[in-house]
Amino acid sequence: MSELVRTLRPIRWAVSPRSSYDVVIVGGGGHGLATAYYLATRHGIKNVAVLEADYIASGNTGRNTTIIRANYGLPEAVRFYQRSLEMYQGLEDETGAAIQHETRGIVWIAHTEPAMRTERARCLMNSASGARTVMITPTELKELVPQIDLTGAGRYPVLGASHHLDGATARHDRVAWAYAAGAAERGVDILQHTPVTGLLRDGDRIVGVSTPNGPIAASVVLSAVGGRVTALAAQAGVRLPVRTHPLHAFVTNNYAQGFGSIVASTELMCYVSQTERGQMLIGAEFDTQPSYSRQSSFAALRGYAYKVTRLFPFMRDLRILRTWAGICDISADFSPIMGATGVDGFLVTTGWGTWGFKAIPAAGEAMAELIATGRTPALIEPFGHDRFARDHVLADQGSAGTR
Ligand SMILES: Cc1cc2nc3c(=O)[nH]c(=O)nc-3n(C[C@H](O)[C@H](O)[C@H](O)COP(=O)(O)OP(=O)(O)OC[C@H]3O[C@@H](n4cnc5c(N)ncnc54)[C@H](O)[C@@H]3O)c2cc1C
Repeated sequence: MSELVRTLRPIRWAVSPRSSYDVVIVGGGGHGLATAYYLATRHGIKNVAVLEADYIASGNTGRNTTIIRANYGLPEAVRFYQRSLEMYQGLEDETGAAIQHETRGIVWIAHTEPAMRTERARCLMNSASGARTVMITPTELKELVPQIDLTGAGRYPVLGASHHLDGATARHDRVAWAYAAGAAERGVDILQHTPVTGLLRDGDRIVGVSTPNGPIAASVVLSAVGGRVTALAAQAGVRLPVRTHPLHAFVTNNYAQGFGSIVASTELMCYVSQTERGQMLIGAEFDTQPSYSRQSSFAALRGYAYKVTRLFPFMRDLRILRTWAGICDISADFSPIMGATGVDGFLVTTGWGTWGFKAIPAAGEAMAELIATGRTPALIEPFGHDRFARDHVLADQGSAGTR
């Protein structure tokens, strides 16, 4: 299939909703759209609507820094994200859409001995759980990324790094459109500018949603609303251990030289990559203050720029072209929450925080299987909401910080 045909496949938009569906998915981000796609393609369940308040991928799916990796710190997480990473590698062939997937490798730099121990442990954990991550020396890092100042501006010396060989990027809006086109072609209704304003109840069960255009009945309602999840879940009486925090990113003007790898510092909590256009793309840690604001802030820009220029002095000569922010559903243990909520008919895929783009294929596939069969797939069983009550949290903040 030619690149043009792959890229320009149109979406069959639904004009108006039906009065009832087997499944209503609230939120047309990557997670909602992927779940709809796999319901239709893997399970033949096509009487499905995706209701999006704005336009598809207008949330974090169209705002992220596109990093795909599986170098997590817990075996359950490594296995889950590795599955997703491998699904991304085949997603162009699966959907027929050009998503600009590119394997580049990701380097996580350590500046202190404790950080070196963490990265060594990460390599062992990754290898044992199916992901390819190896330690590299400062000299090897310099060969990989010649632009780096190994002294860290005299303050953050590079002692070594873990190198996650299969780390990748893919164009985020194309991923959403690939799933949307594939789902719509099979009969799924995708309705943009259709906010869900309430959940319909029959006794203890959720039986549909209300919208400004009227109620829609559903056997299953899946919340895939990103940073808006606590408000929607509250309508079902579900209290989630999630807070919403803004996360910013920015791009510079073009940098002529190649910058192949994605580079992150685990202690400076910042990361940098180069876009396909040649711009340098910079991200860092989310705002500590919970908020629903998607306004960019000078404080974030200044902080991110300070951090990244410690390691890459050449970036002081570049100009910031564009900055933006998204609102992230950060869970209490920095791991996702997928599946049942304790309320019949109401499921969630949430807690994707600053790290959920990479998870879209595997989470969509698993959520579709859960909805179709009523059984939670083993891959996502550890990520259930009930883990907090059972005291089986998956605390992995150290792996979440650099996307
Ligand atoms: C700056 C930034 C950088 C990031 N970088 C990375 C990265 O490099 N790698 C990575 O893996 N992750 C990254 N992330 C995180 C990632 O983008 C998210 O975890 C992921 O996109 C979440 O997808 P989603 O489908 O759950 O949510 P979203 O994409 O936010 O979609 C939710 C949708 O629900 C809609 N919605 C909300 N309320 C309603 C309602 N009541 N009715 C109908 N629709 C509603 C919204 O309009 C939105 O379109 C980053 C995030 C940001 C903000």
